[in-house]
Amino acid sequence: ELDRQIDIVVIGAGPAGAVAASLLNAKGHNVLVIERQHFPRFSIGESLLPQCMEFLAQANLLDAVHRHADQHHFQHKNGAAFVHAGRYSEFDFRQKFSDGHGTTYQVQRAPFDHILAQETERQGVEIIWGHTLVNIDQDTSPARLTVEDEHHQTYTISAQFVLDASGFGRVLPRLLQLDRPSNFPSRTSLFTHIEDNISDDGFDREKIRVTVHYQHKDVWFWLIPFAHGRCSIGVVARSEFFDGRDEDLNRRLADIIADEPSLKTLLANARFDTPAREITGYASDVSQLWGPNFALLGNAGEFLDPVFSSGVTIAMKSASLAADVLDRQLRGQAVDWEAEYAQPLRAGVDTFRAFVEAWYDGRFQDIIFASQQSKEVRAMISSILAGYAWDTNNPYVKDSEHRINVLAELCRLS
Ligand code: FAD
Repeated sequence: ELDRQIDIVVIGAGPAGAVAASLLNAKGHNVLVIERQHFPRFSIGESLLPQCMEFLAQANLLDAVHRHADQHHFQHKNGAAFVHAGRYSEFDFRQKFSDGHGTTYQVQRAPFDHILAQETERQGVEIIWGHTLVNIDQDTSPARLTVEDEHHQTYTISAQFVLDASGFGRVLPRLLQLDRPSNFPSRTSLFTHIEDNISDDGFDREKIRVTVHYQHKDVWFWLIPFAHGRCSIGVVARSEFFDGRDEDLNRRLADIIADEPSLKTLLANARFDTPAREITGYASDVSQLWGPNFALLGNAGEFLDPVFSSGVTIAMKSASLAADVLDRQLRGQAVDWEAEYAQPLRAGVDTFRAFVEAWYDGRFQDIIFASQQSKEVRAMISSILAGYAWDTNNPYVKDSEHRINVLAELCRLS
């Protein structure tokens, strides 16, 4: 395997890598994916948004997802519900401002990512499993990549272009010193899977449920139902919130959930049968999203926050944009990565950013729990929650910050 010459090397076979590799392969390019792990493997990020169905369809991966949905207990999803101290507010994604898919799935990422990767292979892309990208010399053209196999032997690959889809691995940001601290404070997330045994008929399994802590408005829980009586549940808070709590992560999580009245009732019969896990300090940013022979996709670029379940959608959007620019570049056309990739990608990320900031300072909660609401405005917000953060016809995309401020003010007055 010494010194293979490849057009495009993709680092990582998660959603960003699979979509990018499928799209570029379909356009006739020679693509190689290098994936450190063997799938199926665990990943967090289980609630998808309808917008991402469009990118799966573009990459010819959507049929495979539908086909395997029942077998892997993918839960049909049509919206998001928010709960705080006895108040309830839900958004149905089918009643949204933007065109496009109005439903999606909640998935366990181990089988979901595996399906995407297997389908990508079936389309003709080679994925090297268990090999890790460890170095890049990108001053040369083609770039020279150093890869380590499972016996710690290294070999090199020459690539015209590298797409970094390594997620929280953040391979190129680390190797090329592109890391930049995020503007968001460091938060910690503690989560597990449960057999939920929910008997409340009012509980809607087709929606993610986001519960705001009854006391601390910047602490929140996700409850993501799957189709076989199980849920993913997690809490997100500043690291200080966990100080002085039980050292054992399972007991720590169970205590925090038992302390939240609405979840305590809803999950009274739940069985906690899976070890809890913790992730901390995941918000990240980069100084640049591309260079002469590379681009950063998905979480290898910027990651904001999990509250609006936007991660996989942003990852697939980045793959779709990058595949288009790279295809034209490799066919000899003049391309502008800043104007055609970084700026359009960041535009949607900035929409989510405005909503994430408004979530943590309370403006967004004032909006969603307000009693009087216009249908039109709710449809526009529903669109953002469904992932349509790039639809500039939506005033809440075009002018997010200003619109949120005005609406929050109105909601507080009413
Ligand atoms: P990944 O899915 O992480 O894939 C990257 C792949 O690269 C991995 O398989 C890894 O093994 C491989 N890799 C890494 N390093 C190397 C290397 N050196 N060489 C070769 N391969 C390598 N998103 C949602 O859409 N919905 C949610 O509900 C949601 N909830 C979240 C909750 C929390 C607490 C957090 C932290 C995130 C959440 N996210 C959610 C975000 C989501 O996890 C990510 O945005 C998404 O997985 C990013 O996909 P990706 O393809 O960029 O990377």
